[in-house]
Amino acid sequence: MDYTAQLDTAIAKLHDEGRYRTFIDIERRNGHFPHAVRTRPDGSQQNITVWCGNDYLGMGQHPVVLNAMHEAVDAAGAGSGGTRNISGTTVYHKKLEAELADLHGKEAALLFTSAYIANDATLSTLPKLFPGLIIYSDELNHASMIEGVRRNGGAKRIFRHNDVAHLRELLEADDPNAPKMIAFESVYSMDGDFGPIEEICDLADEFGALTYIDEVHAVGMYGPRGGGVTERDGLAHRIDIINGTLAKAFGVMGGYIAASEKMCDAVRSYAPGFIFTTSLPPAVAAGAAASVAFLKTASDLREQHQTQAKILKLRLKGLGMPLIDHGTHIVPVIVGNPVHTKILSDRLLDDHGIYVQPINFPTVPRGTERLRFTPSPVHGPDEMNRLVQAMDELWSHCALNRAELAG
Ligand code: PLP
Repeated sequence: MDYTAQLDTAIAKLHDEGRYRTFIDIERRNGHFPHAVRTRPDGSQQNITVWCGNDYLGMGQHPVVLNAMHEAVDAAGAGSGGTRNISGTTVYHKKLEAELADLHGKEAALLFTSAYIANDATLSTLPKLFPGLIIYSDELNHASMIEGVRRNGGAKRIFRHNDVAHLRELLEADDPNAPKMIAFESVYSMDGDFGPIEEICDLADEFGALTYIDEVHAVGMYGPRGGGVTERDGLAHRIDIINGTLAKAFGVMGGYIAASEKMCDAVRSYAPGFIFTTSLPPAVAAGAAASVAFLKTASDLREQHQTQAKILKLRLKGLGMPLIDHGTHIVPVIVGNPVHTKILSDRLLDDHGIYVQPINFPTVPRGTERLRFTPSPVHGPDEMNRLVQAMDELWSHCALNRAELAG
């Protein structure tokens, strides 16, 4: 085989479809988020404002987090030096797990190196714990859940997005005695819509199924203490396994599940993705623990975040932009074509210093290509004005329709 030609073909296919991804090289400036410096391909530099980050609350530059990380580096050094089972469990990991269990009102929590790994490792391990397990998975679940369910060798059923009637049909069609689990998300990050948590919990009760929720785009941001939508809606106790990330609203890195002591113990004991990898650096665990603890009392920051999202949506809607609004903090503006989306994103960056990455297939369905803005409490009125003016100008320039898909 001509391996190089094969690689060329694979990459050319992405170029042809207009969805070849390029990195934007940025250096975030501590204390000045969302401002950053971009290094252009020619090596020159440009000041930019990041509008597509997932550091939703700016915790990545919060002194509480940075101090905890500095102290832990000074005290414990850089890496953890081992897997959790072989010298890689420190007081920092234990403290963070205790913070997370408390956040979700669960008996225990289990740390992973990312929420991707937490989803993949947990979902791919569950059939080992519950032989014959059938997993019912929302069609728009994140790639990490899809991958975990796909690799686990067990039975799976895919239900139409947020369609509880379809989920019921699938549950009814299966053996009532088979072990079952429903896997879904609380906030779907591409459309910014909520999952029907209560209705899914009701179905789980009716059919004797376990529940697994990904709260990655909600932890830190929803609920009186940042425990996610399940906390906000008083439903956390009805969920068997809550998955979350430490990399978005908590501003650091890492992922976890929160569940019963027994569930965590079993996953800890059986999941290769937990067992056979080095644990998070102590400083990362320390920073994340400080962030989780801080956000438990930072309702003001959560309110500012929601306000910023509401203002941006109102202003873009005022210009007739076709944006999807399900009441979450995510602001997706549908462009509907990968080439236009790329042009808009390039112009915003090159001409206005506004960085928003185009979102294309397969992350979203073809024809719904979009720009996805993530306003935060660190985006001030000036940044917002510049963004809205630039969008208005470029939208007209690209002769795009207004309010095509507004909903
Ligand atoms: N789950 C969802 C819904 C996500 O959007 C993401 C990341 O974007 C993840 C899981 C993975 O999180 P992490 O970045 O911690 O691996």
